[in-house]
Amino acid sequence: MKPNYLLADTHAHLEHDDFAADVDAVVGRAREAGVRYLVVPVCAAADAARGLDLARRHEEVYFAAALHPNCGLPLDADEKAGLREALARGQAEGLAVAVGECGLDYHYLALPREQQLEILRWHLALARELDLPVILHQREAQEDLQRTLETEGVPPRGGVLHCFSGDAAYYRWARDRGLFVSFTGNVTFGGKARPPASSFAELELATTMLETDTPYMTPVPHRGTRNEPAYLPLVAAGVAAAAGRAGDDVAAETTLAARTFFGLPPDFGGAVVYRYRKAQYVNLTNRCTNDCSFCVRNFAAGVGGVELRLRMEPTAAEVLAALGEVAAAEEVVFCGYGEPTLRWEVVKEIARALKRRGGRVRLNTNGSAALTQGRDVTPELAGLVDRVSVSVNAPDAAAYQRLCRPGAPGEEAWRAVEEFVQGARRHVPEVVVTAVAEEAVAPEAMEALARRWGVGFRLRRAARP
Ligand code: SF4
Ligand SMILES: [Zn+2]
Repeated sequence: MKPNYLLADTHAHLEHDDFAADVDAVVGRAREAGVRYLVVPVCAAADAARGLDLARRHEEVYFAAALHPNCGLPLDADEKAGLREALARGQAEGLAVAVGECGLDYHYLALPREQQLEILRWHLALARELDLPVILHQREAQEDLQRTLETEGVPPRGGVLHCFSGDAAYYRWARDRGLFVSFTGNVTFGGKARPPASSFAELELATTMLETDTPYMTPVPHRGTRNEPAYLPLVAAGVAAAAGRAGDDVAAETTLAARTFFGLPPDFGGAVVYRYRKAQYVNLTNRCTNDCSFCVRNFAAGVGGVELRLRMEPTAAEVLAALGEVAAAEEVVFCGYGEPTLRWEVVKEIARALKRRGGRVRLNTNGSAALTQGRDVTPELAGLVDRVSVSVNAPDAAAYQRLCRPGAPGEEAWRAVEEFVQGARRHVPEVVVTAVAEEAVAPEAMEALARRWGVGFRLRRAARP
């Protein structure tokens, strides 16, 4: 099953004259293409009313405002007042989400460098004053942008280097200062026009966003035509290919990054928290390292009448808010409609908060965490998780490969499961392995495996819609 995650286009100039005639249709096509959020960065106070109007008329749209260095306009008192007023009004309505785009453009030099630097400094101060993040534009001015951010500091709500195409050193510098980066259609270009491969080597998806930069930067195969947000999936695919990551990972993580950066409200689709068989279940992800032949995700949109297909993934804070006051006696279970340990830090953060309140925590997992987190995570379970239920479903590597179809090679995946079970035994009071009853695996073989591994065994009914 493929998760049907929605995307965020964090930089779309829908206020541009190019869209005057058909902007509503453009937003409609974006929605159909799976783009749930659109951030429109208007480039001068005079355009702010358009941004606000678009945001008011379309649930998907939010806006940002600043004086773009390529406008060639002086930042006089009227411009300052216009920007400040538009952003403050937009903030009051929950529609203005950033100061931007602003920055330095020494390619066009529509204004002298000194003047551009002064304007940039004013915007950084405005972001601080309004408690908003900042969207930064930079062309042929990397050193001056870095120097300015070093001296002025990144505003507390953060900043994003939009249309990022720097090298690994620039990327690392940005990441170390808490800056986000966002990639555009140039990830689909060839040769020198695309960002250098080195910038993807250490790419951290949690601080990476996607954008079309509509109407510019049209991705392959639409080059030469007007760009629009409906092409964002091509950018997502380009980033996935360049970074060697699965498309689901890119969609899930970049949308969460955009929501976190801009403070966008969630639209989960399915339940992130639900009650099932006397416990509270937490649905963190629909992604999984396996593709089990019997997986409930293949034939139902949920379990026990609860819709679990997510359109985006929740933060720890959102899950804790949805859980509310959990009775101490009640068990909270990280569920298996996807593999929760893919979101390991979030699992721990939630478990830590629940344990502080004296709650009980169970982790349902397929035991693949060492492969996805790059280390044995079982010592981190200590004190956070009371019970671990490892869905093994097969008595040996060959059957595991056949039934659970892990992404990693069969032997490696099987070894990871066994090591996870052994590690969990040392750090968690109760560990069981489970198998789905309806599958053609002899329960005796599973019991023998559990005995060999020194843990309990439970034959479970397949989850039913
Ligand atoms: S491990 Fe669980 S969520 Fe993943 S494919 Fe198997 S049954 Fe589905
Ligand atoms: Zn732009």
